[in-house]
Amino acid sequence: MIPALNELSDVQSLYLEFIEALKSEGFRGDLCPDYASRTVLATDNSIYQVLPQAVVYPRDSSDLQCVARLADEPRFHGVVLSARGGGTGTNGQSLTDGLVVDLSRHMNGILEINVEERWARVQTGVVKDQLNRALKPHGLFFAPDLSTSNRATIGGMINTDASGQGSCLYGKTRDHVLELDTVLLGGHLWKSAPIDRATLEGICHGDSRVADVHREVDRIAREQAELIEAKFPKLNRCLTGYDLAHIYDDAGRFDLNSVLCGSEGTLGFIAEAKLNLVPIPKCAALVNVQYDQFQDALADATDLMRAGPTSIETVDSRVLQLAMEDIVWHKVSEYFPQGERAIRGINLVEFTADSEDKLDAALQNFCSLLDKASGQAGKSFAYSIARGHAEIGKIWAMRKRAVGLLGNASGEERPIPFVEDTAVPPENLADFIREFREVLDSAGMSYGMFGHVDAGVLHVRPAIDMKDPQQAEKIRPITEQVVELTRKYGGLLWGEHGKGVRSEFAPEFFGELYPELQKIKAAFDHRNQLNPGKIATPGENSQLLKIDEVTTRGELDRQIPVQVWEGYSEAVYCNGNGACFNWDPDDAMCPSYKGTRNRLNSPKGRASLVREWLRLLGERGVDPVQQSNLVREQSFITSLPGRIKNTLAKKRGEYDFSHEINESMQACLACKSCVGQCPIKVNVPEFRSQFLELYYGRYLRPMKDYLVGSLEFLLPALSRVPQLYNWPLRLPAVRWALARLGGLVDNPQLSRKSLQQLCNKAGMPVATPQAIASLGPLQRRRAVIIVQDAFTSYFEAELVLDVMRLLRKLDFVPFLAPFKPNGKPLHVHGFLAQFERAAIDNAAMLNLFAAENLPLVGIDPSMTLTYRSEYKKLMGNKAPPVQLLQEWLAENHQQLQEQAGRFGGGQFQMLPHCTERTNATASMADWKQVFSALGQELQIAELGCCGMAGTYGHEAANREDSERIYRQSWGPAVATATNRQNLVATGYSCRCQISRLEGEKVRHPLQALLAQLRDGA
Ligand SMILES: Cc1cc2nc3c(=O)[nH]c(=O)nc-3n(C[C@H](O)[C@H](O)[C@H](O)COP(=O)(O)OP(=O)(O)OC[C@H]3O[C@@H](n4cnc5c(N)ncnc54)[C@H](O)[C@@H]3O)c2cc1C
Ligand code: SF4
Ligand code: SF4
Repeated sequence: MIPALNELSDVQSLYLEFIEALKSEGFRGDLCPDYASRTVLATDNSIYQVLPQAVVYPRDSSDLQCVARLADEPRFHGVVLSARGGGTGTNGQSLTDGLVVDLSRHMNGILEINVEERWARVQTGVVKDQLNRALKPHGLFFAPDLSTSNRATIGGMINTDASGQGSCLYGKTRDHVLELDTVLLGGHLWKSAPIDRATLEGICHGDSRVADVHREVDRIAREQAELIEAKFPKLNRCLTGYDLAHIYDDAGRFDLNSVLCGSEGTLGFIAEAKLNLVPIPKCAALVNVQYDQFQDALADATDLMRAGPTSIETVDSRVLQLAMEDIVWHKVSEYFPQGERAIRGINLVEFTADSEDKLDAALQNFCSLLDKASGQAGKSFAYSIARGHAEIGKIWAMRKRAVGLLGNASGEERPIPFVEDTAVPPENLADFIREFREVLDSAGMSYGMFGHVDAGVLHVRPAIDMKDPQQAEKIRPITEQVVELTRKYGGLLWGEHGKGVRSEFAPEFFGELYPELQKIKAAFDHRNQLNPGKIATPGENSQLLKIDEVTTRGELDRQIPVQVWEGYSEAVYCNGNGACFNWDPDDAMCPSYKGTRNRLNSPKGRASLVREWLRLLGERGVDPVQQSNLVREQSFITSLPGRIKNTLAKKRGEYDFSHEINESMQACLACKSCVGQCPIKVNVPEFRSQFLELYYGRYLRPMKDYLVGSLEFLLPALSRVPQLYNWPLRLPAVRWALARLGGLVDNPQLSRKSLQQLCNKAGMPVATPQAIASLGPLQRRRAVIIVQDAFTSYFEAELVLDVMRLLRKLDFVPFLAPFKPNGKPLHVHGFLAQFERAAIDNAAMLNLFAAENLPLVGIDPSMTLTYRSEYKKLMGNKAPPVQLLQEWLAENHQQLQEQAGRFGGGQFQMLPHCTERTNATASMADWKQVFSALGQELQIAELGCCGMAGTYGHEAANREDSERIYRQSWGPAVATATNRQNLVATGYSCRCQISRLEGEKVRHPLQALLAQLRDGA
């Protein structure tokens, strides 16, 4: 059995005292010195990993003031603090070995929107897309864009001075910052906005930190004006942070915000911001220009710029290939038709206008340029046009995933960020890239590239296995060569993603100005307590971080033995890009994070915890892969005393890091959205089961696990006398006991008539070798086997019958496969040995039918998809080929069309199961094809998770979270549906959730189709 992991890196006593002091000073947020929180916040998207002492989540500005006031007290001068937002930095900006102050959990309110004056005031933990969603009805948006807009916070954007696509037109974040409320060390809350000379002089007269800061910054701006003019590059991306070039605005006003923006949390905590808003362009179009070579696309971009587009982005063939293999591709594939000529480079050229006429004129002009140049060497060979914000949005969404996708590759050499955001004058970009490529090629590295060519910014992530010390050593020489190249071409190493650990290059870059930067830092934070080591030190006694002196993830990952690394491949490659923190409630990944706003309850959280768990086990010489075999061999009875003893120790409060991991795993819905949507394909349900198997090899399982795990095996017997199950379940005392002792609530009722009875009555045959053998050739061609799942068959037997009835009406010959447990509930709860036995038995039966070349089709999406994931992993090609209903029906759409005349027309809205939507994306189009073949209109709602996910929502401990998740996305969709009668839901769990929370029955899509038959069911 695995050991208890209780000897871990302790929190330093100074920080424990600091936390105690926060409590007694009335700090109202969350204080988390636990090892799990420290582990999850030890990484961002960079190559680094730094364990903080603790994490605090302030509730509001006064909590931040409390932190900053205490840190200024002499007893806490040794405390260092790093603000954190979305944690999506690519250079360790928010990492610290001190205290993380995470503003994203609670300080995420949009405080005011002033439509007339076009500004918004927000707390800085607000996510950029969250703000733009709120602004959309007013026709306004917060313009600076970035690929991580669905999870990066306004605080993070301000502190890295973020920008991205469209920056030539809209500028960077600081161009849209009107006012900042900053908590300074000592606790003073200072509102900064452009001020005139008289006001500045008034402020400078005081003797506070605020006065010091203003005096110092003003002095530097005046005394060093010439040097500043010479040093700061005249690039669209110029420099982020401590931006001395813009201390005085065009109207001659002093603006402290130019220093604060991009300062990476080294000067203060930005609590609130007043932001400038811009009208959403009325009309927009995106021309997707295609090339034979990436280099051609780059070189041509300068010519294309002359047509005056809003923005141009270039993507190379590798990024394009990754996008093609990704979940987003089906939405954009029509714009990139695969002909004989391979697309190896693309320019995405956007035009915006305030009328369709103006847009048409711009497009006409641009397209005639393209047409004229077509066929010439180095020019494009084809293009397509997307019109309107919705269509364009799909292509930009694909482009936005590109940085994340760059991190996805097979093998151990994985693309990593360290030179990924250089900027040079756009006219130098093509030559710069040529030399950049030479550097990477001569180091034998593979890489993908894309860039904001209009701004001269290039994104590239070379592939390196950071576990291999020799490969890790390449970071410095490559970085130095790239720094040299950027200098040669008049550019910057940090063109977009901030400095972080790469701050070591700041003194060299700023030259004589660097000491002035240090004086600014000293005026704000002379003891170097705020995010030390980044951008500038306050004096000679402190050091900037160095790219090869901060612990990397690779160094820690090396401690995990190779066979364990391979055995947990579904967890270990998470690179922390944070796509699973996306804010959008209508996006399926990740319901448990969205429901709790706790980063531990996310794919990244779980993957980070398991990586650390594997490392700690490795340190103790324990091989979890071997342990899994031992657990499977151990007898339930003989292992009982040990498990009882360990469980009693747990009850007494004995610490084991595994308890913290278990808590996070219990909050997972096993919905598999991460499997489909994570760019790296992190598969939480898979490694969660592996973890649970070992955890419960050491501790006792709760009763509910046995109830859920055995359900599929008990249901056939129970369904024979459903009253014996249903009646007691209606009794309050039984329900109370089930909730308290069994941990299960709102348990559904068995179908009153069993499926067997219903089928017998309706003459629906069961699939047997004899029945199959007796089929004639025509019948055999039309035969289909319905694979049962426990939930639909025993709790919605009528639905199975309805499906078979409809199929028969459509001239198919449906058979019902005999019921065998599928094993998914066992897998979910980590009964892996039992799952294997059930799966092998079930597969043996289903494969007999498959061998007869008969289609196997499952009704419930989640249960059916088990055959192509868990079964496939277990038995490879021997997994039975069970299709989703819509996949098989779509293949037979011609037969459906022949029957269309028998159906009355109807309009339906489908609420898809999130596992199906994220793991069988193409099958959404199949549903549309099926409905349309039968003359029906179908609209598919873009939704998150319903919150039920099999038995998750029935577990007493999850009841509240389950409902909260439902109310975030499904609740509003159901409530605002124009015709609730015409709502259909594909998942058993989803229908069950609607029924318990809305008291309404929603039909399966095939039941709705059956009801459309003119000649009746
Ligand atoms: C896949 C990927 C794509 C990316 N694409 C882009 C892009 O297109 N454009 C771009 O500009 N960046 C991009 N980035 C980098 C990153 O997303 C941005 O830097 C973003 O602005 C960081 O926001 P965050 O909320 O995650 O901040 P964090 O990473 O949490 O923090 C960033 C810095 O801000 C500080 N900070 C955060 N909040 C506060 C606060 N309230 N007060 C004081 N300091 C604070 C932190 O201390 C840290 O130094 C990308 C990153 C990834 C992983
Ligand atoms: S789990 Fe996936 S989406 Fe989340 S941070 Fe890790 S790699 Fe990114
Ligand atoms: S399975 Fe679902 S709930 Fe669990 S981590 Fe993945 S997305 Fe989140």
